[in-house]
Amino acid sequence: MPVLCSSCSEKRAVLKRPKTGHSLCKACFFWAFEEEVHQTIVAAKLFKPGETVGIAASGGKDSTVLAHVMKLLNERYSYGLELMLISVDEGITGYRDDSLETVKRNQQQYELPLKIVSYEELYGWTMDAIVKQVGLKNNCTFCGVFRRQALDRGAIMLKVDKICTGHNADDVAETVLMNVLRGDIARLRRCTAISTASEGDGVVPRCKPLKYAYEKEIVLYAYFKKLDYFSTECIYSPNAYRGYARTFLKDLESIRPSSIMDIIHSGENLSVREGVKMPVQGTCNRCGYISSQALCKSCVLLEGLNRGLPKLGIGKHHRLHEKILSQQPLTESEERKLKSVDF
Ligand code: SF4
Ligand code: ZN
Repeated sequence: MPVLCSSCSEKRAVLKRPKTGHSLCKACFFWAFEEEVHQTIVAAKLFKPGETVGIAASGGKDSTVLAHVMKLLNERYSYGLELMLISVDEGITGYRDDSLETVKRNQQQYELPLKIVSYEELYGWTMDAIVKQVGLKNNCTFCGVFRRQALDRGAIMLKVDKICTGHNADDVAETVLMNVLRGDIARLRRCTAISTASEGDGVVPRCKPLKYAYEKEIVLYAYFKKLDYFSTECIYSPNAYRGYARTFLKDLESIRPSSIMDIIHSGENLSVREGVKMPVQGTCNRCGYISSQALCKSCVLLEGLNRGLPKLGIGKHHRLHEKILSQQPLTESEERKLKSVDF
């Protein structure tokens, strides 16, 4: 006997919602998914009418669903937003070049303006070239730091008021876990925030409208809506630590689906004991971007690449930053330490 949709009791259920366990028909699932994103946006007051919002678009399932749902809700509920797509081209042959083709098709499908910023034009390095120098162990550190700044630069070029990203509930739960495992209190406190205010010049406020959407539901939504997205993994995707956190989370989810939401709630309700030292945010002496050190992470990584000392930005070499800033030469042993790379 076919199972009837538990919401409309008329049509045949085609799926069991991973988040709630309800059996739903396609139309009721779409409605439930979209309404939950709308409720998230309204409850957290993510946008104001008249704002220009840049959607960080990679061509992957999360950002494609985000672009689709943002356009739909903006029209359905008259948010009054001007939407745009911002993409970052990391310069990864065989991966990003193909996924950007998807973004370009999305641009046509959703009729939204698109700006692509590339690592090559911003930093003078593609990820292909970076991997050649740093190997496949720490490449995601470079990529992540550069991407954060690249999105801000793209957003500023487009004069957007806010950036929204496709981070989903699984991503947030994973980040909570990783920060607990690393003991990174400052990040742990920040990572569950649904939106960030501008932290200084050159930093555009960000928000995550899909923060409470399960990855499995995003995949189902994209599949049933037949959205055009790119599903290949990055060819330089070792990110081992996140990978372990992800596998652990998936194991927990298979036993208890609410684990994802429970971890997010734990992170949201965590309070840090008074007196715990937090890094003080300042600005980078070189490029002016926010930083808790004299040089921002991006400038340190770039300096390391340009000097052929890739380890400079990996690990803690803060005491060398002053030397770099004042263009002092490094000692032989410092150079040796910063050159060696484990591939
Ligand atoms: Fe960049 Fe790593 Fe993501 Fe690939 S997997 S796009 S190298 S952060
Ligand atoms: Zn800097």
